[in-house]
Order: sequence, then structure tokens, then C-alpha cells
Amino acid sequence: MYSVNLIGHFDAAHFLAGYDGKCKNIHGHRFDVAVSLSGKLGEKSGMVIDFSDAKAVLKNLCERFDHTLIYEKGTLSEALLTALVAENFALSEVEFRPTAEHFAGYFYRGLSKTLPSHINVLAVTVYESPENSATYSED
Ligand SMILES: [Zn+2]
Repeated sequence: MYSVNLIGHFDAAHFLAGYDGKCKNIHGHRFDVAVSLSGKLGEKSGMVIDFSDAKAVLKNLCERFDHTLIYEKGTLSEALLTALVAENFALSEVEFRPTAEHFAGYFYRGLSKTLPSHINVLAVTVYESPENSATYSED
């Protein structure tokens, strides 16, 4: 089996509402999204997928979050949301707790939906820092 690997990234702020630790505060990361894809080699191309095609899909998924404050739905008061919107801050509301684990699942599902059906997403690893990452895969 052949697989190809690529990395996308986005810079964003997030926080974990109600968390007992410093991650309850708004803070930022350069999130790296490392993706492994597999599939049959194209007879003529000799490729699983053209890197630029895969990169375009990954970049599109990352752009939603780039330079935004990511928050879980229901974790900011209406008053604060109204103030942030009035200041023109870019916000990303998500339906999940914004941990590296949930981001890995989010990107896995997004890639699976968007890439051509003959491409299999093996795994997605989301790095919050060079030392800290979470991986999602299905067998
Ligand atoms: Zn964080």
C-alpha cells in the first residue's frame, strides 16, 4: 500500500470552558494538521493523489479556523459574543470541545467527505505544539 503525507496549518486562539487548568484561558497555537492518505497508484500519474490537489482540500479546511478565536457553542455569554462581533474579531463556533483530539476527528471527517472517493484517509494528527499532538484514525 502506498500512502502520502502532508501537513497543513492554522494559527488560532481557543480555550477549554470550565477546564480545571490553564487551558481554560484564551491562548493561541500554531496548529499543524498532519494527514496520511492512501489509495491505488494512478497508472499514468504514478501517484496516490497529486499533492497540490490534496493540499488544496486541506488548506480549505484549515482556512475556516485561521486567525480566529475558536469556541465551543454555548460557552461564551451573549454579551461577550456581541462585544467581540462589534470589535470585528473573527470567530469560529464549533459544535465540539476544541481539543486537539476533536480537531483531529473534525479534519478526518472533513477530508473523508471532500477528497475523491478512491482516497482513504488513514490518520490525522493535530499538533498544538511540536511536543503535543492527538491522532484520529479508523480501521
Ligand atoms: Zn490550547
